[in-house]
Amino acid sequence: MRNDFAVFIDRDGTINVDVDFLSRPEQLELIPRSAEAIRALNGLGIPVVVITNQSGIARGLFSEQDLAEVHAALDRTLAEHGASVLAYYYCPHHPREGVGTYRKDCRCRKPGTGMLDEAAAAYGFDLRRSFVVGDKAIDVEAGRAAGAVALQVATGYGEQEKEAGARFRDHYAPDLFGAVQYIITILSERP
Ligand SMILES: [Mg+2]
Ligand SMILES: [Zn+2]
Repeated sequence: MRNDFAVFIDRDGTINVDVDFLSRPEQLELIPRSAEAIRALNGLGIPVVVITNQSGIARGLFSEQDLAEVHAALDRTLAEHGASVLAYYYCPHHPREGVGTYRKDCRCRKPGTGMLDEAAAAYGFDLRRSFVVGDKAIDVEAGRAAGAVALQVATGYGEQEKEAGARFRDHYAPDLFGAVQYIITILSERP
């Protein structure tokens, strides 16, 4: 059966500890219970899609190949916990920093909804039935703009941006695991 919705999850500060401009696999450190949260979604057959702003590419701090290696390592780490991600979508751009084609006013950089739209088109997800989880205000702003249920987590920049995210989010959770518990409750109440 094809799922008509997904859970979209920000990466840094939501799944793994946010170290500024993470560029190497050895910098990856999972936030406690985040792999278990993803595994719970996997167990219910709910697609999990990562959406992440990676302007470090535009800034010349790392390459798309470096990013691919980080995501391969994240996949391996999640697999050790019995968890997996369907797809990674990232925005390599920045509106003012960087050179060449990476320097642009794109639609994919959150709070833009470009990554959500792209994944929805590729997999047939209904964004209005989907969920977006992230630590920053831009994450819940993007989720709200797409018509999804928007959840902000207290990990990463969540505490710092709790005020800023308030008008965009539907729920504030202590971490990804708490957010997933809330999502499962919402789903159990859907007709
Ligand atoms: Mg984040
Ligand atoms: Zn972009």
